[in-house]
Amino acid sequence: MRDVIVAGAGGGGAVIAKELAAQGLDVLLLEAGPRFGNLESDWSHFESDANGLFGGYLRFGPADLSRPAWLRDLPQSSLFLQLSGVGGTTNHYQGNSPRAMPGAFAGYQGDDRAAYDTAHLFPFSYRELIPYYEWVEHTLPVETAPMGTKEDVFLRGAQLLGLPVQRSKEITRAACRAQENAILQPSGTAGKTSDPSKLRFPQAKGCTFCGHCGQGCFLPRHAPINLKSKRATSVSYMPMALTADLWSRGGRP
Ligand SMILES: Cc1cc2nc3c(=O)[nH]c(=O)nc-3n(C[C@H](O)[C@H](O)[C@H](O)COP(=O)(O)OP(=O)(O)OC[C@H]3O[C@@H](n4cnc5c(N)ncnc54)[C@H](O)[C@@H]3O)c2cc1C
Repeated sequence: MRDVIVAGAGGGGAVIAKELAAQGLDVLLLEAGPRFGNLESDWSHFESDANGLFGGYLRFGPADLSRPAWLRDLPQSSLFLQLSGVGGTTNHYQGNSPRAMPGAFAGYQGDDRAAYDTAHLFPFSYRELIPYYEWVEHTLPVETAPMGTKEDVFLRGAQLLGLPVQRSKEITRAACRAQENAILQPSGTAGKTSDPSKLRFPQAKGCTFCGHCGQGCFLPRHAPINLKSKRATSVSYMPMALTADLWSRGGRP
């Protein structure tokens, strides 16, 4: 008898499994898709394009792409972009992790409150969400994105157009900044060379600026799974869920 059964080891499932098991609950986490156990052979820089636009791994189905996708019942004509497997869609997400606008929450009293969709406010206050944001931002971790020359030029242009630089995580006005994301900052040779032989861990750490963020990230090569650059669930919360007994006293694996 389990306390909790979680269906789907994606961005939501892996997080809730880890947090509940770390609190001492007996959690069973079920995943219908494959386990991508060796990122360096499972991912390429082009697998999203393997079967044409939005094909490849962005579908609900087996790892063997020569086999058809699994059938889904959809309530209306719509397109699902989902990655099936341990880690779920975060394996191929972009890692963008901004905070929501405070005006989208109940109780917002700013002068611009009428500018928001007040018929569909989140039914709790932004302040209540802050501790959750802080916990996730600390855990992934979420940091200001690594910037290259292109981003630097773009942001300087935005400032010339009159957009101030956003310096806090709380967005209250039109502004510009490098995005907040779940990509580890580069260090060592990462970001300083495109020579693959120099982009191996530990010579290179964090983001290598390869530019293939919409794919499963396997860089830096030879990095342990928890130090792959993109903080997909499969390299962050999944290993943490499997070792939940180590994250707090009384936690269970
Ligand atoms: C290309 C792309 C880029 C994105 N970029 C961003 C971004 O930059 N920032 C951001 O915040 N969001 C981004 N998103 C959205 C984000 O990735 C998803 O919202 C998030 O991953 C969804 O998490 P989830 O747990 O709800 O679902 P998923 O992560 O999709 O997990 C669902 C899991 O459940 C499994 N499953 C389904 N049915 C069953 C079943 N019956 N039994 C067992 N297992 C089952 C699936 O195999 C899958 O692994 C992006 C999405 C895409 C497609």
